[in-house]
Amino acid sequence: MKVFNTLTNKKEEFVPIKPGEVSMYVCGPTVYNHAHIGNARPLIVFDVLRRTFEYLGYKVTFVSNFTDVDDKIIKAAKQEGITEKELADKYIEAYQDVRRGLNLLFPTYAPRVTETMQPIIDFIQKLVDSGYAYEVDGDVYFRVTKIKEYGMLSGIKIEDLIAGASERVDDNDKKESSTDFALWKKTSEGIQFDSPWSKGRPGWHTECVVMINDIFDNGRIDIHGGGQDLKFPHHENEIAQSMAYHQHPIANVWMHNQMININKEKMSKSLGNVLWAKDLIQELGCNVLKWLMLSTHYRNPLNYTEDVIKTVKKEVDKVENVIKQTSLYLQVNHVQNDEWNKEVVDRMVDALSDDLNTSLALTEILEQVKRLNQVMRSKNKDNLEISKEYQTLIHMLDTMGFVHDVKVLSEEDISLYNQWIQEKTNKNFESADILRKQLQEKGII
Ligand SMILES: [Zn+2]
Repeated sequence: MKVFNTLTNKKEEFVPIKPGEVSMYVCGPTVYNHAHIGNARPLIVFDVLRRTFEYLGYKVTFVSNFTDVDDKIIKAAKQEGITEKELADKYIEAYQDVRRGLNLLFPTYAPRVTETMQPIIDFIQKLVDSGYAYEVDGDVYFRVTKIKEYGMLSGIKIEDLIAGASERVDDNDKKESSTDFALWKKTSEGIQFDSPWSKGRPGWHTECVVMINDIFDNGRIDIHGGGQDLKFPHHENEIAQSMAYHQHPIANVWMHNQMININKEKMSKSLGNVLWAKDLIQELGCNVLKWLMLSTHYRNPLNYTEDVIKTVKKEVDKVENVIKQTSLYLQVNHVQNDEWNKEVVDRMVDALSDDLNTSLALTEILEQVKRLNQVMRSKNKDNLEISKEYQTLIHMLDTMGFVHDVKVLSEEDISLYNQWIQEKTNKNFESADILRKQLQEKGII
């Protein structure tokens, strides 16, 4: 398995901390609204990464959090006239619906900030005790200048940050340095938690580090993922805290997915072009949305246009049609065989193992669709061969997390179908027509 590590800016051979196991963390959402298509991209990309590792035989521990304490949550709760907890619960459920709708594997753990408060406070206290953090008027800030390695992920230099900040007049003058960031904020509004410093709330950058520290040995994981926009300051600040606490950069491999544009424009509320994942799942279906997301490499920006959707729909139709037809054929002919061609699935996984070359993996699926169509169209049909090519395609779809709902036929359905074929062969078109209508009504053909 090779992955592009944004910490070293190189494609590297993946070496796990524990042989045969993969520990992964992907930054989750702040739950104050529905997931948009931009939130769906990391969900899909890192799900495929996880499935690839699982196909290769690794035991994967996959963690993704929910930020359920935030200014945006307070504001949205006020607007909707409900409590912050009610609001967070509502959007967490909506987020899980998107996971279900996209046939994604659920995280092994999905911690919430409100349920991780004591570990967060303990973590901050340790940073204060060791001189990496300091309290001012109930706030706690992290001393960025104490971390020599600061900027190791983003390439940003502390000197440049200080120079940039000196030009801004509105900077928080409580901090020792403009580069320092809040670990704890004293607050007067919204939900507050008791701490040794004040009634308040933790800073966002601390949450992820503590959750990783809480779940994984020595607070160190194999892979930390997230959107490109989180690289700085969020991930850089996660690393800074981990360097202070553990003297290691929290993750051996950092992976960042690029953003999505709508008709070459950035998606934004002000442009009114925000696309919600739940709507697209309804409109396009799980397979089309996933195929679209995986047709572009995760490290390239994805451009969402009507033309792209059209192309993707055609490709997904090819897959779904051949599955439907073959499943029907195998059932009416009572062919039952679980054999599949591992070499073909391995070839697709080889593409995924090359830093998630998903577009090549999709091409392998389309190649398999061609092979299956060929054996289905053959004059001398070999039922075992058809079954094997079919099962191979099913394994490919499962490995990437696509859905394939096929109708399971009853004996009654099968005999109805066989009658129809018989009447057609005997050129009894009237009764064949009646049978065809019945089969159509049952959704069999
Ligand atoms: Zn995070």
